Amino acid sequence: MASPAQKRANVVVSRLIPPVLLGAVIYASYAVTKPLCIDYLIHPLPSYNRGPRVGAGAAIIAIYYVLLIPMVISYLQLYYQVLWNPGYLPLGEQRVADDEKAMQSKRRHGKKRTRGPDPEKTNQADADVERDSNSTAVGTAVQSDFGLESFYTKDVFVCQTDGRPLWCTTCCQYKTDRAHHCREVGRCVQKMDHYCPWVGGVVSETSFKFFIQFVAYTCIFCTFALIVSAYFTAEIRRQVRLPRTTMSTRRLLVINLSTRPEESGLFGLFTAGMTLSSVQMGIFNITTIENLNRRTAVWTLAIRVPEYLLDRLWAAESPWAPTFRMVSYPLQSPSSPTQPQTTNPSSGERHVFAILHTLPGENPFDLGSPLKNLQQVMGYTVFDWLLPIKHSPCADHSSMESHFALGPVVARLRQEAGLAPPPENGAAVPRSPHSGQSHQEKSPSEQ
Ligand SMILES: [Zn+2]
Repeated sequence: MASPAQKRANVVVSRLIPPVLLGAVIYASYAVTKPLCIDYLIHPLPSYNRGPRVGAGAAIIAIYYVLLIPMVISYLQLYYQVLWNPGYLPLGEQRVADDEKAMQSKRRHGKKRTRGPDPEKTNQADADVERDSNSTAVGTAVQSDFGLESFYTKDVFVCQTDGRPLWCTTCCQYKTDRAHHCREVGRCVQKMDHYCPWVGGVVSETSFKFFIQFVAYTCIFCTFALIVSAYFTAEIRRQVRLPRTTMSTRRLLVINLSTRPEESGLFGLFTAGMTLSSVQMGIFNITTIENLNRRTAVWTLAIRVPEYLLDRLWAAESPWAPTFRMVSYPLQSPSSPTQPQTTNPSSGERHVFAILHTLPGENPFDLGSPLKNLQQVMGYTVFDWLLPIKHSPCADHSSMESHFALGPVVARLRQEAGLAPPPENGAAVPRSPHSGQSHQEKSPSEQ
């Protein structure tokens, strides 16, 4: 629950951290290059009483900058995406109107109103219609039919028990699959992972890949810094104990400050933990938020009934009796969206969906293999994995199958409900869940 004071603190921290990080990187680069590599290894100052070690100095400089560059670029890319391409869902009409009213009222009365996207209302985000809610139309805002086309023109989407997509009462908008309302920014974010104070925003589908790259490169960089600093700190300390050393206290201080192994080690451990947990999320194809109730979550999905089945569905003598609730789009009447259709709706542009539930703990977006799941975030080539340039394949929502690629869980649900495509020989539709696995769930982005 983010209060206004916490929000302001988050903003202040997020604005402070980038310049602090930049300062730390500039200082560390100077200290490694000048006092350590040039003045101590390559052209040792006379006071050190040592011969030059050009190879070691040059190698350390080269490796240092080779590791520094991807770390900095991935951070800049992460920062850019979080600030300018955060993956927010647009606000609903009612919310925009409320905002305008609140602004006008504020101007007129010179003080805040209590309606609109004020902190009080933002704190109602708990009332969001989340995926395992049994409620319908929770909250103050009325669910409109506007914007439903982008859901029912796909074959599968996450829905409430009445077949409508999930609804955010704060944004007054339907939430696309896996979108989550972030209280810190007061907006719904597509495939939100977490709010990150390091970059002052939400890590989401547009930035999660760059976040993984940043923490991984930082971990490698810190490991290298740890090894170098531990080695030379030990060497310098040994030298100090020698009676003939003439190294000044000041110079010793500079090198120690710049190459302090404890800090590199701590930061390295921190980023190693972040890297491991982020990669684990990628392997399971879940977000940090979804991970909170990963073992108990039940997803409710609207899965389109194929056209060729619609005739059987409403035929009086049909032996094929559906065992699931259905919803037909466009909605006939806002008050009765879940009324089973009594007439064949296949004429015209009707989209009929079966409302099906996963078992607790099942993830419909798990593609069945760790590599396939990671590819959805990192990309399909080695360059995609290493370079912080291209976006994640999962951020491409052009597939008409679903908002995100779907895995074997959805194939099984289709089979069990008798919605799987007919066998190639045109025989009857299989009812057994084990009579051949469908592979329709591949999104075009996987091709
Ligand atoms: Zn929202």
